[in-house]
Amino acid sequence: MDLYALLGVRRAASAAEIQRAYKRLARSLHPDLNPGDAVAAEQYGAVSRAFGVLGNPDRRARYDSGEPVVVADPVPQVGFEGFDFSVARGGGEVSFGEIFATPRAERAMARGEDLEQAAHVSFEESMRGAERSLEVVRFESCPACGGIGEVELDPQPCRRCRGTGSLRARRGHLVFSRACPDCAGRGRVTRRGCGDCAGEGRSLHTERLHVRIPPGVRPGERLRIPGGGNAGRLGGPPGDFVLVLEVGSHPLFRREGDDLHCVVPLSMFEAAGGAHVDVPTPDGGPVVIEVPAGTQAGQRFRLRKRGAPRPEGGRGDLFVEVRIEIPTVVDDRGRALLRELALLHPQDPRRALGGKG
Ligand SMILES: [Zn+2]
Ligand SMILES: [Zn+2]
Repeated sequence: MDLYALLGVRRAASAAEIQRAYKRLARSLHPDLNPGDAVAAEQYGAVSRAFGVLGNPDRRARYDSGEPVVVADPVPQVGFEGFDFSVARGGGEVSFGEIFATPRAERAMARGEDLEQAAHVSFEESMRGAERSLEVVRFESCPACGGIGEVELDPQPCRRCRGTGSLRARRGHLVFSRACPDCAGRGRVTRRGCGDCAGEGRSLHTERLHVRIPPGVRPGERLRIPGGGNAGRLGGPPGDFVLVLEVGSHPLFRREGDDLHCVVPLSMFEAAGGAHVDVPTPDGGPVVIEVPAGTQAGQRFRLRKRGAPRPEGGRGDLFVEVRIEIPTVVDDRGRALLRELALLHPQDPRRALGGKG
């Protein structure tokens, strides 16, 4: 048996491709995952020996030149750390037999999974929009098999049933016979699973994704990029990429829906006599608002369309709440002026409370 075919890789495969193919096979054939399956155990041994040769540049070169190669030292164990079994195995049970012989139609085509990633934008970026370049690890359609998950073979006898098309199992004195799942009872196989993608039709890649974040995004908003997720299985449509946005806070502005709120301090004299004051806005410079004479603490002014931009167009409003700063008067002249002012304005501020104040 050709060692390359055993691992399901091309003769020109890179060392990394060979290691990947070995890991995938070893993962699905590992005795721990296939307790009591003698065929899987035998195939696991064969695959491990093949990797013992092809996984070593020296031995691989000798094998390529036609020399018989004997693996004397123990086969290197490839660690499975960092591998997510559920993802790599596609969520379903993929056995060696299924990968290598089940006709494509009997395996399920499926839409790719959505991928989700969080991104933080500052308050200012949420107002004017931002761009992010993200590193994304995603399944892409496998170039080796064109996303189909298997490659054509010259017809050859099925290895699992040794060309008989049926498997026998003994229980007590009874012998059961069932159609071989690897060749669907035909005894011959004409296709095998693609070794590059373990028959999934897709393989993992890391790539950079450029995302434009529109102005006005709300905290927790989910930005969906159709087709930016994992490639589908066996030619299914791709999933979406979803960017979940965290938006930073701002020392002056508080957001409520698409409206913004801020507090602007006025001096007692500005509030009493009226004034033009600068009010900050979330983008661009401050705007001047006119505060009428007799403005009270807590009074709110509404600036239309000065709030957060709406992704669908337009803007919310900006609400400005007035806080009044009272000076601390400690000099005699100041105190005299305050007394004089009080005599000119004798209203009782607590008249609504009913008491005498
Ligand atoms: Zn493939
Ligand atoms: Zn068979």
